[in-house]
Parts: sequence; C-alpha cells; structure tokens
Amino acid sequence: MFYAADGASDLARRALLPEVDPALLVTDRARERLARVLTQRGNVDAGNTVGAVARDARGNVAAATSTGGITGKRRGRIGDSPVIGAGTHAENGRGAASMTGPGEAILRLTLAFRATWAMGQGHPPELAARESLGELFDRLGGVGGIIVVDGAGRLGLSRSTEMMPWAARWEGSTRAGS
Ligand code: ASP
Repeated sequence: MFYAADGASDLARRALLPEVDPALLVTDRARERLARVLTQRGNVDAGNTVGAVARDARGNVAAATSTGGITGKRRGRIGDSPVIGAGTHAENGRGAASMTGPGEAILRLTLAFRATWAMGQGHPPELAARESLGELFDRLGGVGGIIVVDGAGRLGLSRSTEMMPWAARWEGSTRAGS
C-alpha cells in the first residue's frame, strides 16, 4: 500500500517504470523560491501541489496528490500529500479527496479522510469540502484547498487560499475555474 525511499525505487524499477535523475525535477523557479525562503528565516512557502480525484463508470473512485512540499522543508519531512487519509484519500462507496495546504495541520486532522467520510454520511461534496477547510481553520488556523468527488461522481471544491486553479471533465463536458 505504501512504499518509501529505496524500497519505493526498487519497486518502481521492478515495475519497469522509467527513472529520471532527481536533479532534473528541480526547476530554476524552485531554486529561486528556496533562496528567497532561506533569506526570510522561518517563513514557509507552499503552492505547487497538484491534486486529482476521479470516479469511473463503474463507481470506482481514486485520488492522487503530487507536491514538492513546502519550500525550505527539513530533511526527512513527510507532508500530508502522500499520507493516505491526510492529504489524499479514496474509498469506493464514499468518495475521494485531495488536499493542498499546511501539511503539518492536515496530517494532524486527517482531513482528506474526514471529507470522504462526510460524503459517505450523505454530506454533499461541496459541503464536505467546505467543512474540511472550516476544520483546518478553526482547529489549527490553517488555510488550504480541497477537491472531492463523491460515489455518484459529483464534484466539490473549496479553497481558503487566494487561488486554486482547477479543471473538471465529465463525459462530453468540461469546466474550469480558479
Ligand atoms: N501540503 C503540502 C505539504 O505540506 C504543501 C502544499 O500543498 O502546498 O507538503
């Protein structure tokens, strides 16, 4: 279910996934952000996370979250994004959720799980998304964003950040916003 570090690399090699030099994943923009953050000590910088949720024709749901984490993070830090239930969660019959925001707070509150659970309890996706961000702010003062899909394929999204560009696609139609 959950592999990390060398074990994850071994598994990926066995599955014949293409490997890239990690140095190629560091962009000039990321380098500039790091330099900026290191000169403003203690100030964290986030905002490069990409999340996806999906529901297929048979009702299977899935979620994925990709992130560089927060700029200037400590070595060994694991944020919420790869942690099932925290930044990413999917459960057939309930729904799927992907989050962005301060990983430390999202981990403590297992927010993607909460949003998925709420949909399973009958909360409409928009409400489940809003409730998660309400919890994040009320309990730990955090701001973030979340996208969810419920078991019926209804989309919900909410953000307390300035922006969160998004796009959605159903059979025959697309929608997008920020
Ligand atoms: N959630 C990510 C982390 O804390 C950061 C982000 O979403 O921008 O690692």
